[in-house]
Amino acid sequence: MAIQAVRGTSDLLGDDVKRWSAAEHAARRLARLYGYAELRTPLIEDAKLFLRSLGETTDLIQKEMFQFKDRGDHDIVLRPEGTAPVVRAYLEHNLHKTQGFAKLFYLGPMFRAERPQAGRFRQFHQFGVEAIGSHSPWVDVEVIVLCQACVRACGVTDAVTWLSSMGCRDDQQRSASELRSQLEDERTKLCPDCQKRFERNVFRVLDCRKDRCQNEARAAIARIRSKTGYPILCDSCTTHFDTVRGGLRDAGVTFDDTQVFARGLDYYTRTVFEVRAKGLGAQDAVAAGGRYDHLVEEFGGPPSGACGFAAGIERLLLAATKPPSTETPPRQGIYLATAQPAFVNEGFRFAQQLRALGVGAVLDYDGRSLKAQLREADKAGCRLVAILGEQELKRREVTVKDLEEGGPQDTIGFDVFAQEIAKRLKTTACH
Ligand SMILES: [Zn+2]
Ligand SMILES: [Zn+2]
Repeated sequence: MAIQAVRGTSDLLGDDVKRWSAAEHAARRLARLYGYAELRTPLIEDAKLFLRSLGETTDLIQKEMFQFKDRGDHDIVLRPEGTAPVVRAYLEHNLHKTQGFAKLFYLGPMFRAERPQAGRFRQFHQFGVEAIGSHSPWVDVEVIVLCQACVRACGVTDAVTWLSSMGCRDDQQRSASELRSQLEDERTKLCPDCQKRFERNVFRVLDCRKDRCQNEARAAIARIRSKTGYPILCDSCTTHFDTVRGGLRDAGVTFDDTQVFARGLDYYTRTVFEVRAKGLGAQDAVAAGGRYDHLVEEFGGPPSGACGFAAGIERLLLAATKPPSTETPPRQGIYLATAQPAFVNEGFRFAQQLRALGVGAVLDYDGRSLKAQLREADKAGCRLVAILGEQELKRREVTVKDLEEGGPQDTIGFDVFAQEIAKRLKTTACH
C-alpha cells in the first residue's frame, strides 16, 4: 500500500494553502502594526524547559508531549507550545538586559502526542505573541485587543471573549483552599484523575473532560461566588483587573467576565482569557492567553511581568465563516508564454534576467498551447503575461498584457524588456 501522511498530520495544498497564507499574512501584519517583532525558535527543545514551566500535573505534561531521547541520551521534546521557548530565548539572548520590555510574535508548528480527533492534530500550528518585561495592565489590554483583531482577520465573525483573573500566587492559594473545602463532600464523585488533582492542583478539575467533574467544580465555584464573590482577589489584583476591564471597554471591546474557566497551564497569574467561536462547540477556544508574571524568574531571569496569547490556525480556519481578510494577495510576477517549444530558450533567458532583477518569472517547458499557458498564468496569480511568438521573435520584441489592470497589450523591445518589466512591477508593489 502507498505510504500516507502520519495520522493527525496533514498536507496543505491548493486553496487550503492560499487560506493559510492569507491567515498568516493577516496575523503577521497585525502583530507588526502593534509593534511585535518576529522570533523563530527551534522545533525541538530540552524536555526540562516544559517540565519546569507547564507544571507536572497538567495533562500536557502527563500524556501529550512528544518526548524522545537523542543519541547522547538527552531528553528532547517536539515543542508543544510557544511561550516557554520564547521566554527561554528572551533570557538566552539577554533581551532582559538589552531591551527590558520586549514584544515578540511567533508562527509555526507545535506537536502533541494525543489521539487525533476532529479539530485536534498531532502537528498543529499556532500564531502567538508575548509581551515580556512589564506588569502594566495596559499590556493585557493590548494583547487581548490584538488577539481579537487576529481572530476577526482570519474570518471568524462570531467569537466571544471570556475574561477572568486568577490573581497572584496568594490569591490562587486562597481560591484553591476555598474550592477544596467546597468540593470536599463531593470528592468521591470525581473521576480517579480528579481525585489526584484535588490534592495537587484542584483547578485542573475544571478542565477535566468528564462532565460530572466539571459540573461539580462549577457548582462549587457558584457556591463560592454567592458566599465571598469570585474570583477571589487581593486589592492589588482587583485594581489590575478593573483597569484591564476599563481599558477594554474604552477600546470598544466586548467580553464576558461571568464565565468560570481555568487555563490548562500552571504558569498563569492575574488576567486570563479565551476567545471562543460559537461554531466550534463549547469544548475549545480558537485563541487563549493571559499573564504569567513568574515564568521569567522561574527560568532564572529577573522578576518580570509578562502577557501573551496563542491562536490555533487550524481551529481559526475551521471556525471561519468568511475568507481571511487578505484573501486575494495582489497579482505578482510575470508569465513568459511561448508559442512554440523552440522559443523556450529565449523565454528562459528572459526569466533569468528578470529573476536577477528580483521579478518572479514562470514559463512552460512542455510545449502546451498558448491558450493553456494563458490559463496557467491566470491560475498562478501572475500580474503580467509576456507572449513570445513568431512575429515577436522576428521583430525582436515581446507582447505584454496586464492581467490585473486589463487594458490594451503593448510591445517591448528585447533589449530593454527585463528592465522595463522590473520597473512596471516595482512601481505597483506594496512593499
Ligand atoms: Zn493578588
Ligand atoms: Zn475528572
